[in-house]
Amino acid sequence: MPFCEVRCAYCDFNTYAGLQALMPAYVRALCREVEMIGESAPEKLAVHTVFFGGGTPSLLPVSAVKRILDTVAAAFELLPDCELTLEANPGTVDFEQLAGLHAAGINRISFGVQSANAHELKLLDRLHTFAQAQTAVHNARRAGFARLSLDVMFGLPYQTMAEWQHTLHAVLALNPDHLSVYALILEHGTPMQAAVTNGQLPLPDSDLAADMYEWASSLLAQHGWHQYEISNWARPQTAPESPMQQCRHNLQYWRNLPYLGFGAGAHGFAGGARYSNALAPQAFIKRMQAAQPRPFPASPACVQRTEVSAAVEMNDTLLMGMRLTDEGVSAKTFEARFGTSLDAQFGGKLRALQDRGLVDWTPERARITPGGRLLANMVFTEFI
Ligand code: SF4
Repeated sequence: MPFCEVRCAYCDFNTYAGLQALMPAYVRALCREVEMIGESAPEKLAVHTVFFGGGTPSLLPVSAVKRILDTVAAAFELLPDCELTLEANPGTVDFEQLAGLHAAGINRISFGVQSANAHELKLLDRLHTFAQAQTAVHNARRAGFARLSLDVMFGLPYQTMAEWQHTLHAVLALNPDHLSVYALILEHGTPMQAAVTNGQLPLPDSDLAADMYEWASSLLAQHGWHQYEISNWARPQTAPESPMQQCRHNLQYWRNLPYLGFGAGAHGFAGGARYSNALAPQAFIKRMQAAQPRPFPASPACVQRTEVSAAVEMNDTLLMGMRLTDEGVSAKTFEARFGTSLDAQFGGKLRALQDRGLVDWTPERARITPGGRLLANMVFTEFI
């Protein structure tokens, strides 16, 4: 959903402010794409997660979310325990909308809170206040959402350890089920990166950011949270029958398993190919109006398609799997999938990373060490 009310200073996502008038045509084009890809699939595909990401999907009217979900349910087989997530900005949703989304079938909501400090929200150009985030969480629970995730950021310009600690404590007090904790990345071409380059903002201190990450990891562990990915934590299950709190949708990416992407700028990996769609919503709509079917998994909106060789797929499996701090890459699963062992393919690299203390490699699995998490890009580049 590549629509936002304003562009945040640090954001380099494929999203656009001021184009909301396009939304009805965009939703029509999106539904058409879902139908076409469903029709071109070799069989009716079973779907265990659907994720509305953005952008700001919470700008969509509930009726549009419902229409998209109905289209997905007709084109694919939605499994009975399907995880249906929608990303929301705390300032863009009220109780009625949240209740409507829940009634439409969305069963997991993810709020971009980012900070509990007013001056940091302003620095990031976020439109909401922390009080609005608190209200949104309260309303989501009232509306029936049993699965609630919050995003927070650290390593901001000027941010002190005490300010970061305040944010994390305040966010934990909201009693979420899942937390995504991201270091700010100064992406090329963003206003924030320009401000740092021009000297208007200080470069965030990377050693302090590392301390913030380690402090957060240890606080969350003390509170019984389960870190399952470099930036993601799940609240432990309160009862065996309560839902697993890991984001099942994102686990699919990190396990390098197939997924379909729909909409402007969406990426997918299915049928042995990676593909991506036209970036601009206008271009996406136009391409979908021209609608000539294409071979699965592409639609007329697809602008790039690359067949994935076995060698690339193996590299990608290591690259993504190293993000999974607990699960890592299972030796058994790898061998069953590729017909060759982790040792045969990556023994030299894994041994070198283990010697540097970045990777823990046992006969069962290879996974990143706590120290390696701070230098994760050094690990990932080995597999690109
Ligand atoms: S709300 Fe999210 S997607 Fe939209 S501009 Fe801000 S960070 Fe980017």
